[in-house]
Amino acid sequence: MMKWKVMNPSLNRIGVYPGTFDPITLGHIDIIERALPLVDQLIIAVAENESKKPLFSLKDRLEMIDYDIKTLMPSAATKVAVKSFDNLLVDFAKAQNAQVIIRGLRAVSDFEYEFQMAGVNRKLCPQIETVFLMASEQYQLISSRFVKDIARFQRDMTSFVSDNVSQKMQQHFSQTSKQP
Ligand code: ADP
Repeated sequence: MMKWKVMNPSLNRIGVYPGTFDPITLGHIDIIERALPLVDQLIIAVAENESKKPLFSLKDRLEMIDYDIKTLMPSAATKVAVKSFDNLLVDFAKAQNAQVIIRGLRAVSDFEYEFQMAGVNRKLCPQIETVFLMASEQYQLISSRFVKDIARFQRDMTSFVSDNVSQKMQQHFSQTSKQP
């Protein structure tokens, strides 16, 4: 049994929200908004994730997140930091002095993977807790993968991503469609 620890009220509670963010969607934004009241500082940790072959470079993904935070939630900007990492998530979280890893849960399909990841991370670093948050109903079905599929066919994405991300995706796909 885990012993209850008396929480130090002056503790600076730091949360890490990791992901690929290829690109950031309104689903991610909703999770960030829900995580903010739970922590003093939120670090959005962008995984390089070369193995997933992201559509956008790490630099572009970081810039899109920065822009969305500044424009969509300006009052939270001082509480949020956007960083990249390419090491093991728990090592990154420990180095940031984080106590909490935030993940979003969509449907049953996310559960198996998230369950395994949280279990492995707990084994590697028992003092860091994974917390799962659920997006509000209108954002639950959004995923970066589907957004990219829709954008590829030049369809409207305004209910899935910010105007800035929507423009960046349009630019990306109009450039790639011009290539021979
Ligand atoms: P990863 O490659 O780590 O899954 P993603 O950028 O796809 O990175 O997702 C990061 C986190 O955000 C994951 O926990 C994912 O489940 C969550 N997430 C993404 N979209 C949504 C959404 N629409 N609702 C709730 N959680 C979401």
